[in-house]
Amino acid sequence: MTAPLDASTIARPGTGAHTSVLLETVGSRHDPPSPSLHAPSAPPAVAARGLTITDSEGRDYIDACGGAAVSCLGHGHRDVIAALHEQADTLAYAHTGFFTTEAAERLGDRLVADAPEGIGHAYLVSGGSEAVEAALKLARQYATERGEDGRRHVIARRQSYHGNTLGALATGGNEWRRAQFKPLLMETHHIAPCFAYREQREAESDADYAARAAGELETKIQELGPETVLAFVAEPVVGATAGAVPPVGDYFRRIQEICDRHGVLLVLDEVMCGMGRTGTLHACEQEGISPDLMTVAKGLGGGYQPIGAVLLSERIYDAISNGSGFFQHGHTYMGHPMAAAAALAVQEVIARDDLLANVREMGAHLRARLKETFGRHAHVGDVRGRGLFQAIELVADRETKDPFDPALKLHARIKAAAMERGLMVYPMGGTIDGARGDHVLLAPPFIVEREDIDRIVERLAEAVDAGLGEVA
Ligand code: PLP
Repeated sequence: MTAPLDASTIARPGTGAHTSVLLETVGSRHDPPSPSLHAPSAPPAVAARGLTITDSEGRDYIDACGGAAVSCLGHGHRDVIAALHEQADTLAYAHTGFFTTEAAERLGDRLVADAPEGIGHAYLVSGGSEAVEAALKLARQYATERGEDGRRHVIARRQSYHGNTLGALATGGNEWRRAQFKPLLMETHHIAPCFAYREQREAESDADYAARAAGELETKIQELGPETVLAFVAEPVVGATAGAVPPVGDYFRRIQEICDRHGVLLVLDEVMCGMGRTGTLHACEQEGISPDLMTVAKGLGGGYQPIGAVLLSERIYDAISNGSGFFQHGHTYMGHPMAAAAALAVQEVIARDDLLANVREMGAHLRARLKETFGRHAHVGDVRGRGLFQAIELVADRETKDPFDPALKLHARIKAAAMERGLMVYPMGGTIDGARGDHVLLAPPFIVEREDIDRIVERLAEAVDAGLGEVA
């Protein structure tokens, strides 16, 4: 079932910023390369079908990253469009303070039926940051309902991204994203991520490294006082900040054991890596763990509508519904029927067409092609990822793993070079031990075929060399 636990507390509608004006001012179009993924570097997009987006000058781009790992079905899927037409024609909006809707209920049921063990409810919101905010508040309210008022500390990991609203921003590990907003942010604590390429010692086994990395959580909990710790938040496969970094060995099983032993809630943020992206519906399935709270978004609606969800365990739901009976939260557009109808259609097509099998098969092909192309490249230190969520990390020196000077903005140059070659990739300067390094993330739609992948990797190789040519 969907869980507006009690939908009567509704946020006031936002005022709506003039987004395009703001984006225009974030970075110039071509020269120097935009410092931000969000700054437009091409004319407006006017049409899209399958893997291709077309701009107003008639140029085609292969969408090799699903925007930001969003467009899991590709663009213009007829079944999703039909579902949207039907929903718009039937019921475009009903406020959750008055009604639930069939679309929201069916989506909630589906999410719960397919969720990891212990998850019993879904709370539908409009995106990833909203989902993270709601998860943090659910965690806190769970503690207060149980009389554990002292539980207030949130621990997360460096090199993680959890969104741009204040709670999510405070939780994420990016110092540079947080810096100017610090006075507005809640206090959070960060430990090292499980990041084998950067943090595993030479000759250290995966098991030993997993134990050492997870041990940081134990140490941090002890330092803060176990009874003061509310939640640990992590992406099972790190996305935007570090570029498709999978965990090693039994890292997450150890994390879960530590959380359980101290009564700390485990919150998994699968906004980017979830909903099939890594080859299983949820990335945490591959870790053999079940979180207390889980956030999903991007691939849930595949970009056809803005939507996200928090999946919550029975025990959290029960504590609140048997306690105050009222989750102190709410948004005007939560449980939106158009968004729910889109997400349902996307998820039904993925299941009907067995697209997760394609994610696994094409993911293996993508990985192999990346290894073949970049495995010996002088400035590619690592090729990593899971399923159709793969990345390369650029380094100035393969031996020392030193990143390029962040001021060079290599990732933005590669993005621009890729766009010139009709390829969309998701580049980012991640945070590496305080310094920023560069990586390029690929997250093509689940309908991608072998020849598409070959074309993507060929164009990427050209773009990487063109970007490097400007700096090296
Ligand atoms: N969490 C993760 C792991 C993300 O990757 C993102 C977005 O990239 C978010 C949260 C925030 O999602 P949104 O941009 O939809 O608010």
